[in-house]
This record gives sequence, C-alpha cells and structure tokens, in this order.
Amino acid sequence: MNLEEYKGVFIYAQQVDNQINNIAFELLGKARDLAKTLDTQVTAVLVGSGIRNLADQLAEYGADRVIVVDDPELKDYRTEPYAHALSEVINKFKPEIMLVGATAIGRDLGPTVSARVGTGLTADCTSLDIGDFPLVARPGHEDEQKHNQLLMTRPAFGGNTIATIACPDNRPQMSTVRPGVMQAIQPIKGAKAEIIDFNPGFTPNNKYVEIEDVVKVVSETVDIQKAKILVSGGRGVGSKENFKILQDLADALGGEVSSSRAAVDNGWMPKDMQVGQTGKTVRPQVYFAIGISGAIQHVAGMEESDLIIAINKDETAPIFSVADYGIVGDLNKIVPRLTEMVKARKK
Ligand code: FAD
Repeated sequence: MNLEEYKGVFIYAQQVDNQINNIAFELLGKARDLAKTLDTQVTAVLVGSGIRNLADQLAEYGADRVIVVDDPELKDYRTEPYAHALSEVINKFKPEIMLVGATAIGRDLGPTVSARVGTGLTADCTSLDIGDFPLVARPGHEDEQKHNQLLMTRPAFGGNTIATIACPDNRPQMSTVRPGVMQAIQPIKGAKAEIIDFNPGFTPNNKYVEIEDVVKVVSETVDIQKAKILVSGGRGVGSKENFKILQDLADALGGEVSSSRAAVDNGWMPKDMQVGQTGKTVRPQVYFAIGISGAIQHVAGMEESDLIIAINKDETAPIFSVADYGIVGDLNKIVPRLTEMVKARKK
C-alpha cells in the first residue's frame, strides 16, 4: 500500500428517507479542522437513491466536494450494496481519513467497509486529532515517530481508561464517531461544492437482503441531544415520582429532563434519556447534575456542556470536579427553591 497516494478527509454523509442525519454535519465540522491541519480538502460521500439534491446542504456545512453514489439499489439501507458503494469510493478516490458516524447504520457499515478495503477502524471515538505517533512498541524503531497521523481517542475497558489509537501502516485511517461529540459549523448559506457522480455498478448477489416492510418506531420522547438546558437526575433523586421536582425546574427554565444510568436501571427514566458512555453524549448550554455522583462513564457524556451546575449532598462527590458551580445540600430542598426563584424572576 503506497500511503502517499491517499489524500483528503472524507466523511460518510448518512441519510435515511432523503434526510441527512445530523451526524453528517458534525463530522463535517471535525473534518474541516483536520483538513486545515493537513492542508487538504473535505469530501462528503452521499449514498442513496434520488439523493443528489442533498449535496448543497453538505456544501453549506463545510464539504468542498461531494461524491454522490445514486442508484435504485440504494433506496433503503442494506449492508451489502452500501458497503459496496463506500468501499468502491475508497478504492477509487483513496482518502487519507474516512469518518463514519457511530449510529446504528454507521456501526454496521464502518467495520464492513474497513475489512473490505483492508484497513483498521477505531470504533466509537470521542476525540480526533492530528499528531505524532510514537513507534515505541516496534523493536529497532523505539525512538521514531510517525507524523501527521489521525489520533483516535475513545474510552476503553468499560470507560476506566481512555485509549488513543492510530493506524500508521494502512489507509484510510477509519473511525466511527459518537453522535453529539463533534460540533457542526454555522452553515454558510449558498456555499457550493464540487459534485462528482460515481456509480460502481450494483449486481444483486445472495448478500442483498430483501426488505419486505419497514416499521417505524414513533418516539414520543424528546431528543436530549438537541436541548439547550438539561436538568439531569441520578440515584440521589430517590424515586420515579421525585423526578417531578426536576421536571418542574426544567419547565420553568424551558429545558428537558435527562438522567444517569442508575436512574434508568431503576426504571425511573427511559433509556433514551440516559447521558453517558452507554447513553447519549450531550453538550447543552446548561447541564444540571442533580443527585449524580459523577462516575467517569457519566461524565464522558456531558463534560463538554458549556456550564455545569452540580447539586449533591456529598461535598466530595467527583461531579464537583467537573462542575462550574456546585451546591452542597439536599436536592429535595434545593431544587424546589431554585424552581421558585426562576419563576419569580420571570414575573
Ligand atoms: P450514584 O453513583 O449512586 O450517585 C448518587 C449521588 O446522589 C451520590 O453522589 C449521592 O451523594 C447523591 N445524593 C443522594 N441523595 C441525595 C440528596 N438527597 N440530595 C443530593 N444528593 C444526593 N452511568 C451513566 O450515568 N451513564 C452511562 O452511560 C454509563 N455507562 C456505563 C458503562 C459501563 C461499561 C459501566 C461499567 C458503567 C456505566 N455507567 C454509566 C454507570 C456509572 O459507573 C455509575 O454507576 C452511574 O453513573 C451512577 O449513577 P448516579 O450518579 O446516579 O448514582
């Protein structure tokens, strides 16, 4: 493999039902940073049927080029034709970096494609950077560094440590990235990208599953990743009923309620509301952590919030080390008072 041939930062622009998933815009935001450091271009790969018209949106969010693979075989997501499409894009256009969202689709597509094109993939990354990678583990090369590598960081060993992984010998350097971690840029209205149509040909084989029916789950829960203010509760809230006092505060502030995993495991909150390593990554303007101890797996999902306010009766709780403001005391007394104060200010 001649590594020099591989150039540019590519992202997989996931779309379903001709709607681009937010993760595509987040990946473009990160791709722009990486491309600036590497002095190269950002390319979005758009795969589907009748989706060419979506390319302009990708341009507005920072794509210099959009490679469009448009074919009737790509109407609904299926592993085989989509993996074929993305693998062939990689084989033809040779990206240095290929980013895919760690969505349900991306977690299926990313590893299938990386195996097909013969490279590695770091799954579920929470941070990406360009930097030097020391070759300490290679006998005879201990003092050497590989430069301008993609350094892919993710929690490891159940979140007890953070691992930074590189892929120095193969291209592209592939990663799936957690939704909600990277930041999209403010869209540049009217921006245009170079559009390249590419069709590698699709011949159905015995791996093409047939979709008989698509049943959509109608979710009535709010998307906590979009909330500007989150009032999050943990085991310290004590019961499902007591989450009402958090809901009152959220209503007064115009925010939403979320929770730690302990509250989900206790059946007090639905899984969709869980913040953390095995829940959602959020970055609201204000995050209240109420009766939450601040375990590393929880903090991994909320530490990028703009302002963190912790309420806990234990002054040594680890949550206070990531909080901007801390209130030590009983949440049952503090939260209703806060709600009253917010309401009073509004009058
Ligand atoms: P606790 O740790 O029990 O903390 C409760 C806190 O409430 C305490 O600090 C206590 O002082 C305070 N408190 C009690 N009563 C009051 C009161 N009246 N007033 C004020 N404060 C009070 N956790 C997540 O949240 N999200 C994840 O995605 C996640 N993923 C995980 C993945 C793995 C692989 C593993 C191993 C664990 C994961 N966890 C996750 C679990 C995590 O390790 C913690 O167990 C969990 O976050 C604890 O939740 P908690 O802070 O609500 O409960």
